[in-house]
Amino acid sequence: MKLVIGLLCLSLGAVEVVKEADAKALSAIVSFLASDSLEGRETPSAGQTIAADYIASEFRRTGLKASFQDAKVSVRRVVRDGFDVSLSDGSKSVKVPVDTAFWTAGPKVELSGAAVKVVKMAELRELKTEGIEPVVIIEGPGGPGLQQAVMKLSTAGVKVVILVGIPMPLPIQTLEFDDQPKMGLVMLRTSNADAEAMLKSGGALKLTAKIAMATASNDVARNVIGILPGSDPKLKDEYVLLTAHYDHLGIRPMNEGDKVYNGANDNASGVASIIESARLIGQLPVAPKRSIMFVAFFGEERGLLGSRYFVRHPLVPLAKIVANINLEQTGRTDSSEGPNVGQVNLTGYHFSTIHKHLEEAGKATALKVVKHEKFSDPYFNASDNAAFAQVGVPSTTMSVTYAFPDYHQLGDEWEKIDYANMAKVTRAIAQGAYLAADAAERIVWNADEPKTKAYREAAEKLLQAK
Ligand SMILES: [Zn+2]
Repeated sequence: MKLVIGLLCLSLGAVEVVKEADAKALSAIVSFLASDSLEGRETPSAGQTIAADYIASEFRRTGLKASFQDAKVSVRRVVRDGFDVSLSDGSKSVKVPVDTAFWTAGPKVELSGAAVKVVKMAELRELKTEGIEPVVIIEGPGGPGLQQAVMKLSTAGVKVVILVGIPMPLPIQTLEFDDQPKMGLVMLRTSNADAEAMLKSGGALKLTAKIAMATASNDVARNVIGILPGSDPKLKDEYVLLTAHYDHLGIRPMNEGDKVYNGANDNASGVASIIESARLIGQLPVAPKRSIMFVAFFGEERGLLGSRYFVRHPLVPLAKIVANINLEQTGRTDSSEGPNVGQVNLTGYHFSTIHKHLEEAGKATALKVVKHEKFSDPYFNASDNAAFAQVGVPSTTMSVTYAFPDYHQLGDEWEKIDYANMAKVTRAIAQGAYLAADAAERIVWNADEPKTKAYREAAEKLLQAK
C-alpha cells in the first residue's frame, strides 16, 4: 500500500520540502543590518540606504532578480529656536512658553493677530470649511479620525490647529510623499496653565505666531524587490508576496551611552528570514507554479509607509497578487509571556486560507503553527500586511513573539536572537511561501469570519476590475 501511495505521489508530482535553513547565515544578515554603523535604519537616512543596497545584494546572491522601488519623500523637522506664539482675547495676551509647547512638523508659520475658530472634536466631521479662520482650536476628548479631519482643515487653508484635551501625535518629524497631499498646517499643544485657560475661555481669540521649520526635500526612500519567477506558463503571472520591513527607529543623539535603535528582532530578523527563504526556495528542483516577489519595505515604523506606497504603485496588478505573507520578529524566543520555542504565530489566523498552507508547511518541517488567542486578530492591522488587506489581498503577519523585552528600545541587539530556533522558523516560512505559490487553488478570504467583511468587499472589487 505504501508503495502504491508513493508511486501515486510521484506521478502527481511529489510535494517538495525545502532544506534546513542556515542559522549562521541568518546571524550574519541580522548582525550587519542591526549594527551601529547603520544607525537604526531610520526612514529616510544614509543607514537605511546602505541597508537597502545590502538587501539587494543578498537577494542577488540567492539568485533573485533585484531592483528598487523609489519613493520621493520630503522630511520636515521641528525647529525649537525662534518659536514665538501668543494668544490674545482683546484685553490681555498670553505667551506660550516654548518649553510648554509641542508641535508637529509642517510648513513654517507666520501669523499676526489671526482669527481663531473653536470646534469640538465631535463636530469636525460635519464642519463646513469654506472661508474658515486660519487658526482652529479643537477641543477634546480626542477620537479616531483626527488626522483625516486635520487634513481637511489643511486643504481648506488653515495654518495652525491647537489641540485642547487631545494627545499630541508624533511631533519629531513628518514625511511627505510626492503622490500624497501635503500637510499645510502645524498642530500645536501647550501645557501652560494660563494659555490653556485662555484657550478654554470661549472668548474671541487672536493668534500671533512665528514657528520655524527645517525641510529636506527630494530625499528617497526605497522598497527593495527580488523576484523568483514561477514555473507554470499560466500561473507565473500571479504572485505570492513574502515581505518584511527593514526600517527602524534611527538614533537618538541626546541619549547618553548607547544611541542606536538597532532593531535586530524588529525587524532585521524578518528581512534575514525572507533572504534565507529565497535561497531555500531557489534550491528546489522546480520553482513553484506562481512567482514569488520578496519585498523589504521602508517606513513601517512611521505608519506602514513603504507597504502603502507599494499598494499605491503596485509593480504588478494587485489582482495578480494572491497573498501577502509578511514577517515580523522571527528571531527572539524570549517573549514577554515566557519562552516561545518551536512555534510561529499568524495574525488574523482564520481570516483567509493562508493558514492551511502554513500549517502544512509546519507539519513538513516539524514546527508548530499556532494561533495566539489574545493577539492574533488585534495585531492583524499592526504591520505591513494591513496595507494589502485593505485593498483586498489576503494577508497575514508571521512572528515568533509579539511583545518582547527591548521592544522599540536601544537593547534590541543581534546577540539576543535565538538563531537555532530562527532557522527552524525560517524553513517553515519558506516551505509555506512555496506551498502557497505552488497551490492549484488561489488563496481566498474566509467568508465565515465577520471581521473580514471589508477585505472581502475590497477583494471583490479588485477581481472584478481584473
Ligand atoms: Zn516591526
